[in-house]
Amino acid sequence: MKVGFIGLGIMGRPMCKNLLKAGYEVTAFDPFAKAALDDVVSCGAVRGESNADVAAKSDVVILMVPNSPNVRDAVFGKEGVAEAKKKDLDIIDMSSIAPLQSKDIAEKCEASGMHMMDAPVSGGEPKAIDGTLSIMCGGPKVLFDRYRELLGHLGASVIHCGEVNGAGDTTKLANQVIVAANIAACAEAYELATMAGVDPVKVFDAIKGGLAGSTVMNAKVPMMLDRNFKPGFRIDLHIKDLNNALETGHGVGTPMILTSAVQEMLQWLHNNGCGSDDHSAILKYYERITGVEVKRQ
Ligand code: NAD
Repeated sequence: MKVGFIGLGIMGRPMCKNLLKAGYEVTAFDPFAKAALDDVVSCGAVRGESNADVAAKSDVVILMVPNSPNVRDAVFGKEGVAEAKKKDLDIIDMSSIAPLQSKDIAEKCEASGMHMMDAPVSGGEPKAIDGTLSIMCGGPKVLFDRYRELLGHLGASVIHCGEVNGAGDTTKLANQVIVAANIAACAEAYELATMAGVDPVKVFDAIKGGLAGSTVMNAKVPMMLDRNFKPGFRIDLHIKDLNNALETGHGVGTPMILTSAVQEMLQWLHNNGCGSDDHSAILKYYERITGVEVKRQ
C-alpha cells in the first residue's frame, strides 16, 4: 500500500515518521514546512512536489492540516489531490474540522471518483510521537476496515464512530469541549489556590489522584507551573474547534454555555498576542485580571 501524507506540522510530522517506521512507502508534502519535509525525507519518505504529485504516487492520501478551508485547498485547490484524477483514491482526513464541512467535502470527493473518511485525533504532540493517539473515524465502515491496521500504527485506540461522514469530527468536537472546559477549570482553581496562599504544587500533588484528576490536568497543570506555554496545541486551533462546536451545537439546538464562556477567554487571549501559545495559557486570562502568577514556589 502506497501512502501519501499531506501536512507536516506539529502533528503530521511525527505521524508521517511513524508510518515510515512501520514500513509503509510514504510520499510526503507540505508547501509551507520545508524543514519538516526535509526531516521526513531524511527518514525515508519520497519528496512530493505538490499535493497532486502525492496523490499520483499513492493509493491512499492522509491529510493533517488545520481546518476545512485547508482541506478543501489541499484536495480541490491549485495542484490539489483531485488534479491527479486518480480513480478510487482513498482520502483519510485526520485534521479536526466541522462535521458538516467534512460531509460536504466527502460528497464532492465521491462525485470526483474519490472516497473520504474523517479520522481526527486526540492526544497532542506527545502521543503523535509515541503513536498512541485516540483516533475517531467517520464514514463508510468499508474504508474503516481497509485502514484499521494502518491507523493502528498512529493510535492506541481506533474507533469507528458512525457511517456518516463527519461522525469522527463530531466526536472530536465533544472531546475539544471537554478539554477546553477542563483546562479553564484548572486555571481558575490553581489561581484560586495561589491567591488564597496555598502552594499550587502541593495542590496538584494532593488532588491529581482524586476525582478532579484527569489526563488534561496531568498534561497541562505542570506546563502552567513551569510557565511553559510552548505549543502543544495552539490557542488559535482551539478557537477554531470551539467555533465549530458552537456552530454545530447551535445547529442541533444544544445549549453551549461552558463552551461559549471558554471561547470568550480564548478570543481575548488571541486579541492580546497569545494565539500561538499552548492552550494551557488560558491561565494567563486569570493572571492578567488578578495580577498574580501561578508558579512553582
Ligand atoms: P500545524 O499548524 O502545526 O500544521 C498544519 C500543517 O498543515 C502546516 O505545516 C501547514 O503548512 C500545512 N498545510 C496547511 N494548508 C495546507 C495545504 N493546503 N496543503 C498542504 N499542507 C497544508 O497544526 P497541527 O497542530 O499539526 O494540527 C493539525 C490538525 O490536527 C488540526 O486540525 C488540529 O486541530 C488537529 N490536532 C492538533 C493537535 C495538537 O496538539 N497540535 C492535537 C489533536 C488534533
